[in-house]
Amino acid sequence: MHISDLRHRLRSLGALPVHEDRVLRRWAMAQPQEGGRKQLQHFLPLALRAELPAITDELAGLARLHSEHPGDDGSARLLVALRDGQQVESVLLPPDRPKRRPSQATSGGGLCVSSQVGCAVGCVFCMTGQGGLVRQLGSAEIVAQVVLARTLRPVNKVVFMGMGEPAHNLDAVMEAIQLLGTGGGIGHKNLVFSTVGDPRVFEHLETLGQGEVKPALALSLHSTFARKRAELLPRAPRFDPAGLVEAGERYARASGYPIQFQWTLIEGVNDGDDEIEGIVRLLSGKYALMNMIPYNAVDGLSFRRPSWERAAEIARTLHRRGILTKLRQSAGQDVDAGCGQLRARAQAPTRRIAIAVAQG
Ligand code: SF4
Repeated sequence: MHISDLRHRLRSLGALPVHEDRVLRRWAMAQPQEGGRKQLQHFLPLALRAELPAITDELAGLARLHSEHPGDDGSARLLVALRDGQQVESVLLPPDRPKRRPSQATSGGGLCVSSQVGCAVGCVFCMTGQGGLVRQLGSAEIVAQVVLARTLRPVNKVVFMGMGEPAHNLDAVMEAIQLLGTGGGIGHKNLVFSTVGDPRVFEHLETLGQGEVKPALALSLHSTFARKRAELLPRAPRFDPAGLVEAGERYARASGYPIQFQWTLIEGVNDGDDEIEGIVRLLSGKYALMNMIPYNAVDGLSFRRPSWERAAEIARTLHRRGILTKLRQSAGQDVDAGCGQLRARAQAPTRRIAIAVAQG
C-alpha cells in the first residue's frame, strides 16, 4: 500500500485535506485516532468515521513485530512481518547521548528502515545482496516500520540503510520521506536517504521544490578505485568514485547538510594505505563526513573485519589529514547484525526479480 492510495481512499470517504492530514499524522506518530483536542464526531465526515476502525486495523497489519533482538549497545534489531508473509529488518539505533553529559540519553533514538524485500545491487559482502530482489515495499509499509518502532521507543531520526537500495524504489521512499518529515515530526536533516549512488537520486533531489522535505544523503563508497568498487557493488550504477563525490558535494552545498560517506571496512580489501590516500584525495575540502563501519561477518562469505586497532588507526590517520571521520560499530553486532541475516535465518530463499539499474 502506498500513502497516495490511502489518501485517495480517505478522499473517497469525504475527507478534506485537513482530515487526511490528521489521520495520517496520528498514524505516523503512532497515536490513537481517537485522541487529541478535536473529537472525531465533531471533526471527521461520517463515512470516514465509520470506516476508520477498519482503516486503522489495515494500517496496523502493514508491519507487525515478528521478533525483537536487543543488542548490548542499546540497539535492537526488529524482524518485521509484512501483510503478505514477507519479512524485512528494521534496527532501533542506540539513543544519542549529549556530548556534555554522556551518561544521559536523549529521549529519542534513530531507526534504520528497509525499503525493499531483498536487494538487486548484489554487494558481494552483504547477506541481503545474495538473495536478489523479492519485491518493493510500498511507501505505507516503509512508514509502518516507523510506526511500529514508535510503539517500542521514541524515534527522532530515520535512516534508509536497511534492506534494499532506496534508489530502486525512489517514488515510494520519497513519499515516505515527505510524510515522515511533515506529519511524522522528523527533522528533515534527520531523514537520511542512503544510496550506492544513482543519477536518478541526484536528479530527483535537485528538483525538489520549496516546501518539500529534503533529506540528508548518505553515499556508500567502500572503495576509491572504480574497478574495485564495481567488483564489490556489482550491479550499482557505474559511477566513478570521483564523480560520485562531486555529485554528493553539489547536493551537500545546496541542502546545507554534509554528505555522509559510508565505508564498510573489510580486512585486506579496502583497509589499506592506498585507500587512505584515495579518501584524502577525494574528500579533502568537501562538506562531508566519513562513517567507517568494520564489517560484520556473514555466514558463508569469506570476508572478515580488520582488527579494531587497525580500524582506529585508519580513522586517526584520516582525522589527522583533515577528513572528518567517525568509526562506528554496526548496531547490534551481537545479534546477527549483518544486514539481512535475521531474515535469512527466518525464511527460506525466495524468488528473485531482476530490475533495471540506470548506468551512470
Ligand atoms: S549493502 Fe545495501 S545496497 Fe548492497 S546489497 Fe546489501 S542492501 Fe543492497
